[in-house]
Amino acid sequence: MNYCPDCGGPLLRHVVGGELRNHWFCLRCQAEHHVYPRVVVTAFVACGKRLLMGATRARPAARQVGYSRWFPGTRGDAGRGTARELYEEAGVRLPPARLQLYMTGSITFINQVYMGFRATVEDEACLPGVESMDCRFFARDECPWEALAYPQVNDSIRQAYDDLDSGDFAVWQAQMTQSHYELRPVSQGRAESKKTPR
Ligand SMILES: [Zn+2]
Repeated sequence: MNYCPDCGGPLLRHVVGGELRNHWFCLRCQAEHHVYPRVVVTAFVACGKRLLMGATRARPAARQVGYSRWFPGTRGDAGRGTARELYEEAGVRLPPARLQLYMTGSITFINQVYMGFRATVEDEACLPGVESMDCRFFARDECPWEALAYPQVNDSIRQAYDDLDSGDFAVWQAQMTQSHYELRPVSQGRAESKKTPR
């Protein structure tokens, strides 16, 4: 962000109490401008103890480095339905209600928030869509750990395999900083779901 979206004036990084903040300030408008985090959605789809992974279509420059980059299930921006994306990218058809909240996370230094859903399927049928190069179910020891698209989040994939082994699924909250990745379970309350007519 270089210019104010309101007046076109130059933007400065806002300094509050001597500390550089993660938003911008327009001297002309005397207003703050925020760059809101991008929300990225992933899905962990399991068949038994195997997880669905998709591979991106490698760009020509990347092809010589490696075959492709793998990521769990599907990934997309929050705007596109995760169930629809699973169908389009991996040919896996799941009613949206079968996707359960599994992980939420923030990756502060790249200003991203992610949401992970999980679901199980009865068979390993899948078919890569036009945007994918490949998709397959992998057991933990077959997982292409060296060729993952986002090795920063390997811990969440390990956690998903751990949970498949134990059959005990918590909802995880992840926090990633430059130096570490932390996963902690969100307490399982006894609250019942509520539906209010609008
Ligand atoms: Zn302005």
